Amino acid sequence: MENNKRPLAVCLVSGGLDSCVTAAFAKEECEVAFVHVNYGQRTQQRELEAFNKIADYYQVEKRLVVDIGYLKKIGGSALTDTSIDVPQDTLSTNGIPITYVPFRNAHLISIATSWAEVIGAQFIYIGATEVDFSGYPDCRRSFFDAMELAIHEGTRPETNIKIRTPIIHMGKKEVVEAGARLGAPLELTWSCYKDEDLACGRCDSCLLRLKGFKEAGLKDPIPYKADKENRGETSI
Ligand SMILES: [Zn+2]
Repeated sequence: MENNKRPLAVCLVSGGLDSCVTAAFAKEECEVAFVHVNYGQRTQQRELEAFNKIADYYQVEKRLVVDIGYLKKIGGSALTDTSIDVPQDTLSTNGIPITYVPFRNAHLISIATSWAEVIGAQFIYIGATEVDFSGYPDCRRSFFDAMELAIHEGTRPETNIKIRTPIIHMGKKEVVEAGARLGAPLELTWSCYKDEDLACGRCDSCLLRLKGFKEAGLKDPIPYKADKENRGETSI
C-alpha cells in the first residue's frame, strides 16, 4: 500500500472539536492510532461515543480506551467534582478556570507515550490550544516541550517520540476553519462540559465552540438545547 511508509502517530482523541481537528491534521501525514481516556468527567459516556464515531469515520483500527477514574477521586475541577458547578453563560477571562483538571494533560501524555513506545509510534498528537483556554497551564507548548524531554529520558534509547500540537496557536475560529478545510467530521464531535443528551449551549466549552463557528461564518452542525427550547419542544 502506498501509505505503508507513513509514520505512525498516537492521537489523543477526547471526541471534542479540538481533538477531532488535530486528528485530521495527523491523518494528513501519518497513519493514526487513537487513544481515549475516561477520567471521571461529567460527560464521559457521550465523549466516548463521539470518540468511537470519529474513529469509525477515519477507519482507525488501532484504538485504545483507558480509564483513569482516580482523577475523579482527586477532584479539584468542575469537570470531575459534581459538587463544583460548571460555570454558565460566562467565558472565564482571568485566572485558571475552575474547569481546569489539575495536571490532566501530563496523565494523558504519559498514557499516549507508553502506548506509542509499545506500538512504535513516532508522534503523539494532542489538541491543546494556548489561545482560548490560556488559563490551562498544561496546554502551553512550553509544557509539551518539557514532556518531550521527559519522554526522551524515560523511554528506550531507540525510541524517539515527539509531541505535535498543530492547533496550539489557533483560536476556535481558526480551529473550525481548519476542520472544514481538512474535511474533519465536526458533526460527530462533542464539546459540552455539562450535559450528555443535547449540548447545553451555556458552559465555557459550548460558548467558545459556538463563538468559533460564528466567527468562521459556519453553522455548528450539532443540535443545542436552546434550539429545541426555542422551537417550543422540551428537552429529554
Ligand atoms: Zn455545554
